[in-house]
Amino acid sequence: GVEYCKILELLPDGKALLLRAGVGWKEGCVGHATVDTGTNSQAGYTLISDKPVIVDDMRTEKRFSAPSLLVDHGVVSGMSIIIKGKDRPFGVMGVHTTRKRTFTRDDANFLLSVSNVIADAIERKRLSAHIDHVARYDILTDLPNRILFIDRVTRAISHAKREKEQIAILYLNLDRFKVINDSMGNETGDGLLKSVAERMVNCVREGDTVSRMGGDEFAIMLVGITCASDVTKVSQKIIEAVSEPYVLDDREMHITASIGISMYPYDDEKMEGLINKARAAMLQAKEHGRNNDRFYNMEMETSSYEMMMLENDLRKALDRRELLLYYQPQVDINTGRIVGVEALIRWRHPDRGMVSPADFIPMAEETGLIVPIGEWVLHTALAQNKAWQEEGLAPIKMSVNFSSVQFRQKDPVEIVANALRETGLKPGYMELEITESVIMKGADAVIKKFQELKELGIHICMDDFGTGYSSLSYLKRFPIDILKIDQSFARNVTTDTNDASIVMATIAMAHGLGMTTVAEGVETKEQLEFFRSQKCEVVQGYLFSKPLPAEEITKLLREGGRFEI
Ligand code: C2E
Ligand code: MG
Ligand code: MG
Repeated sequence: GVEYCKILELLPDGKALLLRAGVGWKEGCVGHATVDTGTNSQAGYTLISDKPVIVDDMRTEKRFSAPSLLVDHGVVSGMSIIIKGKDRPFGVMGVHTTRKRTFTRDDANFLLSVSNVIADAIERKRLSAHIDHVARYDILTDLPNRILFIDRVTRAISHAKREKEQIAILYLNLDRFKVINDSMGNETGDGLLKSVAERMVNCVREGDTVSRMGGDEFAIMLVGITCASDVTKVSQKIIEAVSEPYVLDDREMHITASIGISMYPYDDEKMEGLINKARAAMLQAKEHGRNNDRFYNMEMETSSYEMMMLENDLRKALDRRELLLYYQPQVDINTGRIVGVEALIRWRHPDRGMVSPADFIPMAEETGLIVPIGEWVLHTALAQNKAWQEEGLAPIKMSVNFSSVQFRQKDPVEIVANALRETGLKPGYMELEITESVIMKGADAVIKKFQELKELGIHICMDDFGTGYSSLSYLKRFPIDILKIDQSFARNVTTDTNDASIVMATIAMAHGLGMTTVAEGVETKEQLEFFRSQKCEVVQGYLFSKPLPAEEITKLLREGGRFEI
């Protein structure tokens, strides 16, 4: 017989083995005692030998030194063998005795078969732990997934019911994540989701749960809440943390989040109701300008329902001819002549009246409806410009907005070439307005698309410049002809010296790079004078005209197409 039996587990750092299980050892050893690896112990030596290690007499052993665990227990003889794991050994098992005894080949074989059984069991346990993990955790972020979240909320509710406590559910959706994902690629999108997840986890306490519900949606459960302001504090902290800049692939990026909040027991006493209501509140937060949070309230059911209806309506809007274009004059800053117009979409909704593009373009982008809508815009705008020319009016340029989602989903070169061919407009009379989110992914493929678009003979304009993430030096890699300074600058140039200096530098650098500049949103004479003093070429804004229906532009052009300047 043997007095001691042991199973040692190799610790993750590989420097020691821990006595995991065994019989015969003094109290306090199992779970605590460790032995060194290498030739400092029998177990260590066993790890590096591929056969069972048999010790006839520890006192005369030469291959390794006797570890204190064995010395303390007066061990004289024994044998040990490695327990193999799939990628690395799990550890060592062994039997020992205080008497001098010779172990036979049969003894060693017996030990070998026991160690194989153990190795097998460990492997199976690890595999099932892994399967269990992936069933309950999100692969990308390693946060609890929807299933685990539901489970935790259900448990928390029964606990809160007993203890008369409150729970808050925060439902978070990233604003316009799809646009970033489409323009920068899935890998960057994934990286962003991971960073967002980490930041959120840092905003909550130990007992709270942050989970990924799928896509760019996360849900957070806060427990042990005493008042609503506790919840707002956490929610605001998350909104702030998420909106800090990210650096991924050496590019700086920004994203914001909208959060909806529901509370147990006030809003609902059931798990499903609580989560659904937090989500409805999130949709509401989005509708109210994004980058904020909202508590659930009863009227919201109808409101998220309304959003859904609006999306349904938009699907039919094209066929029902409810979409139309307005045109806003672009004016030569020196002569006052109308040199072009920008096509701006409008939706004449049967019940709601005129819907602004700010209210439905983001929805069209998220649903992909922007692709057919965008093609319709391009075709209609170019056809209109051609019609003005056929009438014999002095030719002007037509500027068309092009969404980054459109740029990604279908070949933009093909779309533009088709529209030019079908309408017969000369390419020199069209301008494509693109926003910074398109060029964010500075991939060569995007630059190549720009070059192909250029080769068609059209002009390319960078819209809303100054609101996004790119610098002029970055823009230089793209064949851009025109820089349109965002209207937020026009609003401030005469009052904010910071904005004024940014605009001055921007215009000077744009000129240095061979681009011309357009100022949009010019509403006052003072703003106009500022841009003139900076040699900005073209201005657009309410000072001259709001966007107008085609017939009114026709009238303006017939009257000579010139503003007092
Ligand atoms: P944007 O391309 O920057 O268009 C300029 C917006 O500023 C227009 O708003 C225009 O009406 C407004 N605006 C012009 N002058 C002034 C001014 O002096 N003061 C003020 N306060 N506003 C001025 P709108 O028409 O509501 O369009 C909003 C945005 O919707 C556009 O911004 C553009 O990003 C998008 N959009 C409009 N039409 C289309 C389209 O056909 N396709 C795509 N993809 N996006 C479009
Ligand atoms: Mg525009
Ligand atoms: Mg703009």
